[in-house]
Amino acid sequence: MAGRHVIIIGAGLGGLICGRILSRHGYDITLLEQGTQAGGALQTFVREGIRFDTGFHSVGGLAPGEPLDLILRQLDLRDLPWFPMEPDECVGCQEPFLRLSTGWEEERKHVLEPYRHDIWRLKGGGKTLIDALAKDQRVLLRKKVTAIEDRTVSCADGSSYQGDVVISAIHPLVTLRMVRDHIRPAYLQRIEGLSNGPGAFTVYAKLRPGTIRHLRHSIFVNNDFMIHFGDEVVNGHAISLDIVSFVQPDQVEACCQSRQAFAEALIRKAAQRLPGLPEAIEKYWTSTPRTWERYTSTPGGSAYGIRKNSTADFLAPQTPLPWLFLTGQNLGLHGILGTSVSAINTCNSIFLL
Ligand SMILES: Cc1cc2nc3c(=O)[nH]c(=O)nc-3n(C[C@H](O)[C@H](O)[C@H](O)COP(=O)(O)OP(=O)(O)OC[C@H]3O[C@@H](n4cnc5c(N)ncnc54)[C@H](O)[C@@H]3O)c2cc1C
Repeated sequence: MAGRHVIIIGAGLGGLICGRILSRHGYDITLLEQGTQAGGALQTFVREGIRFDTGFHSVGGLAPGEPLDLILRQLDLRDLPWFPMEPDECVGCQEPFLRLSTGWEEERKHVLEPYRHDIWRLKGGGKTLIDALAKDQRVLLRKKVTAIEDRTVSCADGSSYQGDVVISAIHPLVTLRMVRDHIRPAYLQRIEGLSNGPGAFTVYAKLRPGTIRHLRHSIFVNNDFMIHFGDEVVNGHAISLDIVSFVQPDQVEACCQSRQAFAEALIRKAAQRLPGLPEAIEKYWTSTPRTWERYTSTPGGSAYGIRKNSTADFLAPQTPLPWLFLTGQNLGLHGILGTSVSAINTCNSIFLL
Protein backbone atom coordinates (compact mmCIF):
# COMPACT_ATOMS: atom_id res chain seq x y z
CA MET A 1 0.00 0.00 0.00
CA ALA A 2 2.94 2.40 0.48
CA GLY A 3 2.80 5.28 -2.03
CA ARG A 4 -0.97 5.34 -1.80
CA HIS A 5 -2.85 8.50 -0.93
CA VAL A 6 -4.41 8.76 2.54
CA ILE A 7 -6.92 11.49 3.38
CA ILE A 8 -7.08 12.26 7.11
CA ILE A 9 -10.09 14.13 8.46
CA GLY A 10 -9.12 16.29 11.45
CA ALA A 11 -5.67 17.63 12.37
CA GLY A 12 -5.88 17.06 16.12
CA LEU A 13 -3.26 14.89 17.82
CA GLY A 14 -4.69 11.63 16.46
CA GLY A 15 -4.78 12.77 12.84
CA LEU A 16 -1.33 14.36 12.99
CA ILE A 17 0.33 11.29 14.52
CA CYS A 18 -1.23 9.05 11.86
CA GLY A 19 0.05 11.49 9.24
CA ARG A 20 3.57 11.38 10.63
CA ILE A 21 3.72 7.58 10.90
CA LEU A 22 2.20 6.90 7.49
CA SER A 23 4.23 9.51 5.61
CA ARG A 24 7.38 7.96 7.06
CA HIS A 25 6.24 4.67 5.57
CA GLY A 26 5.88 6.17 2.11
CA TYR A 27 2.19 7.07 2.07
CA ASP A 28 1.09 10.35 0.54
CA ILE A 29 -0.93 12.24 3.16
CA THR A 30 -3.46 15.10 3.05
CA LEU A 31 -4.92 16.33 6.34
CA LEU A 32 -8.20 18.27 6.21
CA GLU A 33 -8.86 20.47 9.24
CA GLN A 34 -11.99 22.53 9.73
CA GLY A 35 -10.33 25.04 12.06
CA THR A 36 -8.02 27.95 11.41
CA GLN A 37 -5.21 26.12 13.24
CA ALA A 38 -4.25 22.50 13.75
CA GLY A 39 -4.32 20.88 17.19
CA GLY A 40 -7.99 20.30 18.07
CA ALA A 41 -8.14 19.86 21.84
CA LEU A 42 -4.45 20.78 22.12
CA GLN A 43 -4.88 24.31 20.76
CA THR A 44 -3.53 27.25 22.68
CA PHE A 45 -4.71 30.85 22.56
CA VAL A 46 -3.19 34.15 23.62
CA ARG A 47 -5.00 36.91 25.53
CA GLU A 48 -3.21 40.10 26.56
CA GLY A 49 0.15 38.46 25.90
CA ILE A 50 -0.55 35.38 28.04
CA ARG A 51 -0.65 31.93 26.46
CA PHE A 52 -3.40 29.65 27.71
CA ASP A 53 -3.52 25.92 27.01
CA THR A 54 -6.95 24.42 26.43
CA GLY A 55 -6.75 20.59 26.55
CA PHE A 56 -3.21 20.06 27.78
CA HIS A 57 -1.93 20.45 31.30
CA SER A 58 0.46 17.59 31.89
CA VAL A 59 1.37 14.05 30.89
CA GLY A 60 2.55 11.07 32.88
CA GLY A 61 4.85 8.22 31.93
CA LEU A 62 7.65 10.16 30.30
CA ALA A 63 10.54 8.97 32.45
CA PRO A 64 13.02 6.77 30.56
CA GLY A 65 11.39 3.50 29.50
CA GLU A 66 7.86 4.57 30.48
CA PRO A 67 5.13 4.17 27.80
CA LEU A 68 4.93 7.74 26.56
CA ASP A 69 8.72 8.09 26.54
CA LEU A 70 8.99 5.13 24.16
CA ILE A 71 6.23 6.41 21.87
CA LEU A 72 7.52 9.98 21.69
CA ARG A 73 11.02 8.71 20.88
CA GLN A 74 9.62 6.77 17.93
CA LEU A 75 7.80 9.88 16.73
CA ASP A 76 10.87 12.15 17.23
CA LEU A 77 8.97 14.19 19.80
CA ARG A 78 10.96 13.26 22.90
CA ASP A 79 13.54 16.00 22.32
CA LEU A 80 10.93 18.74 22.67
CA PRO A 81 11.38 20.86 25.84
CA TRP A 82 9.49 18.58 28.28
CA PHE A 83 10.14 19.35 31.94
CA PRO A 84 9.17 17.50 35.14
CA MET A 85 6.51 18.75 37.54
CA GLU A 86 6.02 18.08 41.23
CA PRO A 87 3.37 15.52 42.25
CA ASP A 88 -0.19 16.82 42.06
CA GLU A 89 -1.89 18.04 45.21
CA CYS A 90 -5.22 16.47 46.06
CA VAL A 91 -7.54 18.31 48.45
CA GLY A 92 -10.31 16.18 49.93
CA CYS A 93 -10.23 13.61 47.14
CA GLN A 94 -11.97 10.32 47.86
CA GLU A 95 -9.08 8.46 46.37
CA PRO A 96 -6.01 10.69 46.02
CA PHE A 97 -4.89 9.20 42.77
CA LEU A 98 -8.26 9.32 41.00
CA ARG A 99 -8.44 13.04 41.62
CA LEU A 100 -11.78 13.85 39.96
CA SER A 101 -15.20 12.31 40.11
CA THR A 102 -16.26 12.19 36.50
CA GLY A 103 -18.53 9.18 36.17
CA TRP A 104 -15.95 7.36 34.08
CA GLU A 105 -13.52 6.50 36.82
CA GLU A 106 -12.49 3.23 35.23
CA GLU A 107 -11.07 4.86 32.14
CA ARG A 108 -9.43 7.56 34.16
CA LYS A 109 -7.69 4.96 36.34
CA HIS A 110 -6.01 3.59 33.22
CA VAL A 111 -5.28 7.02 31.78
CA LEU A 112 -3.83 8.28 35.04
CA GLU A 113 -1.78 5.22 35.91
CA PRO A 114 1.41 6.65 34.31
CA TYR A 115 0.97 9.84 36.40
CA ARG A 116 1.76 7.76 39.49
CA HIS A 117 5.38 7.61 38.39
CA ASP A 118 6.10 11.03 36.95
CA ILE A 119 4.36 14.17 35.67
CA TRP A 120 5.64 16.41 32.91
CA ARG A 121 4.81 19.55 30.98
CA LEU A 122 6.02 21.01 27.74
CA LYS A 123 7.48 24.49 27.30
CA GLY A 124 5.08 26.33 25.00
CA GLY A 125 2.30 23.86 25.87
CA GLY A 126 0.20 21.95 23.34
CA LYS A 127 1.27 24.32 20.56
CA THR A 128 4.87 23.09 20.76
CA LEU A 129 3.72 19.50 20.24
CA ILE A 130 1.31 20.36 17.44
CA ASP A 131 3.78 22.61 15.59
CA ALA A 132 6.42 19.88 15.74
CA LEU A 133 3.99 17.35 14.27
CA ALA A 134 2.45 19.62 11.65
CA LYS A 135 5.61 21.25 10.31
CA ASP A 136 6.41 18.63 7.68
CA GLN A 137 2.83 17.65 6.80
CA ARG A 138 0.29 18.89 4.27
CA VAL A 139 -2.40 20.29 6.58
CA LEU A 140 -5.18 22.13 4.76
CA LEU A 141 -6.98 24.49 7.12
CA ARG A 142 -10.61 25.75 6.93
CA LYS A 143 -11.60 22.46 5.28
CA LYS A 144 -14.75 21.35 7.05
CA VAL A 145 -15.61 17.88 5.79
CA THR A 146 -19.33 17.45 5.12
CA ALA A 147 -19.58 14.19 3.15
CA ILE A 148 -17.66 10.95 2.66
CA GLU A 149 -18.49 8.66 -0.24
CA ASP A 150 -16.54 5.97 -2.04
CA ARG A 151 -13.09 7.16 -0.87
CA THR A 152 -13.94 10.77 -1.73
CA VAL A 153 -14.17 13.41 0.97
CA SER A 154 -16.11 16.63 0.26
CA CYS A 155 -15.75 19.89 2.13
CA ALA A 156 -18.12 22.75 2.90
CA ASP A 157 -16.22 25.04 0.51
CA GLY A 158 -17.07 22.78 -2.45
CA SER A 159 -13.63 21.14 -2.73
CA SER A 160 -13.24 17.37 -2.68
CA TYR A 161 -10.32 15.00 -2.19
CA GLN A 162 -9.97 11.39 -3.21
CA GLY A 163 -7.75 8.88 -1.45
CA ASP A 164 -7.10 5.17 -1.46
CA VAL A 165 -7.73 5.20 2.26
CA VAL A 166 -9.64 7.67 4.45
CA ILE A 167 -8.91 8.03 8.17
CA SER A 168 -11.42 9.89 10.27
CA ALA A 169 -9.74 11.40 13.33
CA ILE A 170 -12.99 12.94 14.57
CA HIS A 171 -15.87 11.53 16.61
CA PRO A 172 -17.12 8.23 15.08
CA LEU A 173 -20.79 9.22 15.18
CA VAL A 174 -20.09 12.53 13.43
CA THR A 175 -18.08 10.55 10.87
CA LEU A 176 -20.82 8.03 10.14
CA ARG A 177 -23.43 10.75 9.73
CA MET A 178 -21.35 12.07 6.83
CA VAL A 179 -20.92 8.70 5.09
CA ARG A 180 -23.12 8.29 2.00
CA ASP A 181 -22.19 4.64 1.31
CA HIS A 182 -24.31 1.85 2.75
CA ILE A 183 -23.22 0.87 6.25
CA ARG A 184 -24.55 -2.18 8.10
CA PRO A 185 -27.38 -1.02 10.39
CA ALA A 186 -25.97 -3.07 13.29
CA TYR A 187 -22.71 -1.11 13.17
CA LEU A 188 -24.55 2.22 13.02
CA GLN A 189 -26.74 1.21 15.96
CA ARG A 190 -23.72 0.26 17.99
CA ILE A 191 -22.04 3.62 17.42
CA GLU A 192 -25.28 5.49 18.09
CA GLY A 193 -25.65 3.59 21.37
CA LEU A 194 -22.30 4.68 22.79
CA SER A 195 -22.40 7.54 25.27
CA ASN A 196 -19.93 10.39 25.69
CA GLY A 197 -18.26 11.68 28.84
CA PRO A 198 -18.96 15.20 30.16
CA GLY A 199 -17.52 18.41 28.79
CA ALA A 200 -15.25 20.94 30.45
CA PHE A 201 -15.98 24.40 31.80
CA THR A 202 -12.77 26.39 32.13
CA VAL A 203 -11.92 29.76 33.65
CA TYR A 204 -8.70 31.16 32.16
CA ALA A 205 -7.48 33.83 34.58
CA LYS A 206 -4.92 36.62 34.27
CA LEU A 207 -3.58 37.42 37.75
CA ARG A 208 -2.55 40.76 39.20
CA PRO A 209 1.25 40.86 39.64
CA GLY A 210 2.58 39.51 42.94
CA THR A 211 -0.70 38.13 44.25
CA ILE A 212 -0.72 34.31 43.98
CA ARG A 213 2.40 32.24 44.54
CA HIS A 214 3.31 30.04 41.61
CA LEU A 215 3.12 26.30 42.28
CA ARG A 216 4.89 23.74 40.15
CA HIS A 217 2.03 21.29 40.48
CA SER A 218 -1.69 21.07 39.77
CA ILE A 219 -4.36 21.04 42.48
CA PHE A 220 -7.41 18.75 42.47
CA VAL A 221 -10.16 19.80 44.86
CA ASN A 222 -12.90 17.63 46.36
CA ASN A 223 -13.11 15.44 43.25
CA ASP A 224 -14.83 18.45 41.73
CA PHE A 225 -12.43 20.74 39.86
CA MET A 226 -8.76 21.27 39.12
CA ILE A 227 -6.41 24.26 39.15
CA HIS A 228 -3.41 24.50 36.83
CA PHE A 229 -0.81 27.28 36.91
CA GLY A 230 0.60 28.82 33.76
CA ASP A 231 4.33 28.21 33.29
CA GLU A 232 5.46 31.81 33.58
CA VAL A 233 6.73 32.93 36.99
CA VAL A 234 7.58 36.50 38.08
CA ASN A 235 9.37 36.78 41.43
CA GLY A 236 7.85 33.49 42.55
CA HIS A 237 4.32 34.55 41.58
CA ALA A 238 2.05 33.18 38.88
CA ILE A 239 0.78 35.41 36.09
CA SER A 240 -2.04 33.08 35.06
CA LEU A 241 -3.94 29.97 36.04
CA ASP A 242 -6.93 28.01 34.88
CA ILE A 243 -9.71 26.28 36.77
CA VAL A 244 -11.43 23.32 35.07
CA SER A 245 -14.64 21.62 36.09
CA PHE A 246 -16.29 18.71 34.24
CA VAL A 247 -19.94 19.38 33.38
CA GLN A 248 -22.70 18.44 30.98
CA PRO A 249 -23.56 21.31 28.60
CA ASP A 250 -26.90 22.04 30.24
CA GLN A 251 -25.41 21.96 33.76
CA VAL A 252 -24.00 25.43 33.19
CA GLU A 253 -27.42 26.84 32.35
CA ALA A 254 -29.11 24.79 35.09
CA CYS A 255 -26.76 26.03 37.79
CA CYS A 256 -26.51 29.69 37.03
CA GLN A 257 -28.15 32.36 34.97
CA SER A 258 -25.03 33.01 32.94
CA ARG A 259 -21.63 31.51 32.27
CA GLN A 260 -20.18 34.44 34.19
CA ALA A 261 -22.15 33.40 37.28
CA PHE A 262 -20.92 29.81 36.80
CA ALA A 263 -17.34 31.06 36.49
CA GLU A 264 -17.59 33.19 39.60
CA ALA A 265 -19.01 30.31 41.64
CA LEU A 266 -16.02 28.23 40.50
CA ILE A 267 -13.56 31.00 41.40
CA ARG A 268 -15.11 31.27 44.88
CA LYS A 269 -14.71 27.51 45.37
CA ALA A 270 -11.07 27.69 44.20
CA ALA A 271 -10.49 30.50 46.74
CA GLN A 272 -10.95 27.94 49.52
CA ARG A 273 -7.55 26.58 48.48
CA LEU A 274 -6.08 29.86 47.17
CA PRO A 275 -7.32 32.60 49.55
CA GLY A 276 -7.63 36.01 47.90
CA LEU A 277 -8.09 34.52 44.43
CA PRO A 278 -11.20 36.55 43.43
CA GLU A 279 -9.38 39.82 44.16
CA ALA A 280 -6.15 38.54 42.53
CA ILE A 281 -7.85 37.93 39.18
CA GLU A 282 -7.45 40.97 36.95
CA LYS A 283 -9.44 39.51 34.08
CA TYR A 284 -10.75 36.12 33.01
CA TRP A 285 -12.12 34.32 29.98
CA THR A 286 -14.22 31.16 29.89
CA SER A 287 -14.95 28.18 27.69
CA THR A 288 -17.94 25.88 28.04
CA PRO A 289 -18.80 22.47 26.55
CA ARG A 290 -20.57 24.41 23.77
CA THR A 291 -17.26 26.14 22.97
CA TRP A 292 -15.58 22.74 22.70
CA GLU A 293 -18.38 21.43 20.52
CA ARG A 294 -17.88 24.36 18.15
CA TYR A 295 -14.11 23.91 17.97
CA THR A 296 -13.81 20.11 17.80
CA SER A 297 -17.35 19.07 16.73
CA THR A 298 -17.37 16.41 19.47
CA PRO A 299 -21.07 15.92 20.40
CA GLY A 300 -22.05 17.87 23.50
CA GLY A 301 -18.50 19.22 23.71
CA SER A 302 -17.45 16.04 25.52
CA ALA A 303 -13.89 16.53 26.75
CA TYR A 304 -12.70 12.95 26.30
CA GLY A 305 -15.26 11.61 23.84
CA ILE A 306 -16.83 8.17 24.01
CA ARG A 307 -16.93 6.66 27.50
CA LYS A 308 -14.97 3.44 27.89
CA ASN A 309 -14.99 0.79 30.56
CA SER A 310 -14.19 -2.88 30.73
CA THR A 311 -17.79 -3.93 30.11
CA ALA A 312 -18.12 -1.99 26.85
CA ASP A 313 -15.71 -3.23 24.21
CA PHE A 314 -13.46 -0.61 22.65
CA LEU A 315 -14.02 0.47 19.05
CA ALA A 316 -11.64 -0.92 16.45
CA PRO A 317 -9.98 1.33 13.85
CA GLN A 318 -11.64 -0.69 11.08
CA THR A 319 -15.18 0.15 9.92
CA PRO A 320 -17.48 -1.91 7.67
CA LEU A 321 -16.07 0.06 4.70
CA PRO A 322 -12.65 -1.46 3.88
CA TRP A 323 -11.13 1.94 2.98
CA LEU A 324 -12.48 3.92 5.98
CA PHE A 325 -10.64 3.87 9.34
CA LEU A 326 -11.14 5.61 12.65
CA THR A 327 -8.59 7.02 15.07
CA GLY A 328 -8.32 9.45 18.01
CA GLN A 329 -9.32 9.55 21.65
CA ASN A 330 -12.73 7.97 21.00
CA LEU A 331 -11.23 4.56 20.23
CA GLY A 332 -8.81 3.69 23.00
CA LEU A 333 -8.05 5.76 26.03
CA HIS A 334 -8.09 9.55 25.88
CA GLY A 335 -5.22 11.95 26.55
CA ILE A 336 -1.91 12.35 24.79
CA LEU A 337 -0.87 8.81 25.63
CA GLY A 338 -4.23 7.21 24.77
CA THR A 339 -4.60 9.13 21.50
CA SER A 340 -1.03 8.23 20.47
CA VAL A 341 -1.68 4.53 21.08
CA SER A 342 -4.93 4.81 19.12
CA ALA A 343 -3.06 6.38 16.17
CA ILE A 344 -0.46 3.60 16.22
CA ASN A 345 -3.23 0.97 16.17
CA THR A 346 -4.91 2.68 13.22
CA CYS A 347 -1.66 2.82 11.24
CA ASN A 348 -0.97 -0.85 12.00
CA SER A 349 -4.41 -1.72 10.58
CA ILE A 350 -3.56 0.17 7.40
CA PHE A 351 -0.18 -1.58 7.10
CA LEU A 352 -2.08 -4.89 7.10
CA LEU A 353 -4.14 -3.95 4.01
C1 LIG B 1 -10.13 20.42 29.37
C2 LIG B 1 -9.25 19.30 28.88
C3 LIG B 1 -8.04 19.07 29.50
C4 LIG B 1 -7.21 18.05 29.05
N1 LIG B 1 -6.00 17.87 29.67
C5 LIG B 1 -5.17 16.91 29.24
C6 LIG B 1 -3.89 16.72 29.85
O1 LIG B 1 -3.50 17.46 30.75
N2 LIG B 1 -3.11 15.70 29.40
C7 LIG B 1 -3.50 14.87 28.38
O2 LIG B 1 -2.73 13.95 28.01
N3 LIG B 1 -4.70 15.04 27.77
C8 LIG B 1 -5.55 16.03 28.17
N4 LIG B 1 -6.75 16.20 27.56
C9 LIG B 1 -7.16 15.25 26.50
C10 LIG B 1 -6.48 15.49 25.15
O3 LIG B 1 -6.48 16.88 24.86
C11 LIG B 1 -7.27 14.73 24.07
O4 LIG B 1 -7.43 13.38 24.46
C12 LIG B 1 -6.60 14.72 22.69
O5 LIG B 1 -6.06 15.99 22.35
C13 LIG B 1 -7.64 14.29 21.64
O6 LIG B 1 -7.10 14.33 20.34
P1 LIG B 1 -7.93 13.81 19.09
O7 LIG B 1 -7.04 13.97 17.90
O8 LIG B 1 -8.51 12.48 19.35
O9 LIG B 1 -9.22 14.75 18.97
P2 LIG B 1 -9.40 16.40 18.72
O10 LIG B 1 -8.31 17.06 19.43
O11 LIG B 1 -10.79 16.64 19.05
O12 LIG B 1 -9.14 16.52 17.16
C14 LIG B 1 -10.14 16.41 16.19
C15 LIG B 1 -9.85 17.44 15.09
O13 LIG B 1 -10.78 17.22 14.03
C16 LIG B 1 -11.25 18.49 13.58
N5 LIG B 1 -12.56 18.27 12.96
C17 LIG B 1 -13.72 17.93 13.59
N6 LIG B 1 -14.72 17.81 12.69
C18 LIG B 1 -14.18 18.08 11.47
C19 LIG B 1 -14.71 18.12 10.14
N7 LIG B 1 -16.01 17.86 9.88
N8 LIG B 1 -13.88 18.44 9.11
C20 LIG B 1 -12.54 18.70 9.34
N9 LIG B 1 -12.01 18.70 10.60
C21 LIG B 1 -12.80 18.37 11.63
C22 LIG B 1 -11.31 19.34 14.84
O14 LIG B 1 -11.32 20.72 14.52
C23 LIG B 1 -10.03 18.88 15.55
O15 LIG B 1 -8.91 19.65 15.16
C24 LIG B 1 -7.60 17.23 27.96
C25 LIG B 1 -8.81 17.48 27.30
C26 LIG B 1 -9.63 18.50 27.75
C27 LIG B 1 -10.91 18.77 27.02
